[in-house]
Amino acid sequence: MGYLDSYRSPWMTDELEMLAQTARRFFEEHVTPRDAEFRKNHEIDRAVWRRAGELGLVGMSIPEELGGHGGTFAHEAVVVQEQAYQCNTSFGFVPGALNAPAVFTQIASPEQSREWTPKIVAGECITAFALTEPGMGSDMKALRTRAVRHGDKYVINGAKTFITHGKQADLCMLAARTSDEPREGISLFLVDTKNSPGFQVQKVLEKIGQNGLDTCEIFLDNLEVPVENLAGGREGNGFSKLNDVFRSERLSIAVSAIASAERAIELAVQHSRDRQMFGQTLWDFQNTRMKLAECASEARAGRMMVDALIMKELEGTLTMQEAAMAKYWCSEKQCEIIDTCLQLFGGYGYMAEYPIAQLYMDARIQKIYGGANEVMKELVARGL
Ligand SMILES: Cc1cc2nc3c(=O)[nH]c(=O)nc-3n(C[C@H](O)[C@H](O)[C@H](O)COP(=O)(O)OP(=O)(O)OC[C@H]3O[C@@H](n4cnc5c(N)ncnc54)[C@H](O)[C@@H]3O)c2cc1C
Repeated sequence: MGYLDSYRSPWMTDELEMLAQTARRFFEEHVTPRDAEFRKNHEIDRAVWRRAGELGLVGMSIPEELGGHGGTFAHEAVVVQEQAYQCNTSFGFVPGALNAPAVFTQIASPEQSREWTPKIVAGECITAFALTEPGMGSDMKALRTRAVRHGDKYVINGAKTFITHGKQADLCMLAARTSDEPREGISLFLVDTKNSPGFQVQKVLEKIGQNGLDTCEIFLDNLEVPVENLAGGREGNGFSKLNDVFRSERLSIAVSAIASAERAIELAVQHSRDRQMFGQTLWDFQNTRMKLAECASEARAGRMMVDALIMKELEGTLTMQEAAMAKYWCSEKQCEIIDTCLQLFGGYGYMAEYPIAQLYMDARIQKIYGGANEVMKELVARGL
């Protein structure tokens, strides 16, 4: 029995096990074999998104009455884990199938939901959430993109950067300033990107990891958005609705962090048992066993934290502070554990084709996006 098989999360059910099998098959058949191609192209084949939609893997926790599958965070967590176990990130599940649809669900009117949700759930409409700007990431009060009302439309000018699915997205939830009030002056707009000439993708950025995703710079050049696409129907009304989304996004980063660390441990155990040197296996060195025992214990501590918080999320009691604790601590442990495991692979661990190298490259961003870990610690400290 391997490290992963030796533990079952307390929130896991038979139904969720079946979903895990479906997700595993999806990643094994449609993503993993083509991961190198997707990383090279910096985007995934849209047919893969449609296949995910057919299998019911997109927008799983969108309520049924809005056209979603009516699942819970546990459904999303299962798929996040399965993706992490496959060591690939090209199918942008957390930003694209979980987070951006959740932003949409929070801010869309019933009519907008009826129009877009079926397409999102079918994998036909890829979504993006555009908040970050060249001069503003952690400090939202510094947001500069401006939306000015002209009759029945808003005209938006500014620039966004680091936007996941910036090129592929059909629908973008865009943050822009409608007044000078630091936070309350920020509004959210739904942008039909393919029918908006003012939404201009400047560049798909070259990254050190997560290369299967189109992370973009976007220029907003007199972008016209109908007034009915202002979220919540009132200026400055959008952001107050997003706390739930940020909380679950941070927990999902923690879930993927621990699952990636667990996978790295499995890979390192297997490799060190196979690798011969000095007339024995790598596993036979006490150092190897001590290092992997430390990694396994820390990953299990993270697993238990994440599991406890998933259960709190399911019962509706997870706090912002707890999600921030999990996001920061689990992503730090993910990077430490994967680094330790990669060392055991020697030069092979540095070769991009090896799954351990992919885990390493894709891990680093987890300490930065979804709120930098320093910001997470500020959130935690606020609750002390
Ligand atoms: C691959 C990738 C995908 C992304 N996807 C998206 C997306 O889809 N949509 C989107 O809107 N954004 C996205 N982002 C942006 C991401 O959320 C930001 O990069 C992140 O919030 C940090 O902002 P910044 O890069 O401007 O860094 P800055 O805000 O300049 O922060 C730099 C560093 O300063 C330190 N720091 C910041 N605040 C504090 C503090 N309060 N106390 C102490 N130290 C602090 C931290 O070390 C931080 O890493 C993505 C980024 C990347 C790299």
